[in-house]
Amino acid sequence: MATKRMPKTPASGPTTAKCGPCKGTGEVPVPVRVGRNRRVVGAQNGMCLGCFGTGQAPPPDTTRPPA
Ligand SMILES: [Zn+2]
Repeated sequence: MATKRMPKTPASGPTTAKCGPCKGTGEVPVPVRVGRNRRVVGAQNGMCLGCFGTGQAPPPDTTRPPA
């Protein structure tokens, strides 16, 4: 008994799409610059501005109606 199958998909919804720039991680590599020459010494993880760290692709632009 009690062998009811549960769906493996999370409850976030089937329409959730991964964010492109961060590939769904919510983080993107940000170059670290130092010195006056702004020499790049490496990269660190920064919040993805495409999805604001959620890793999910933002919904289509709903703020402005199509032309
Ligand atoms: Zn993202």
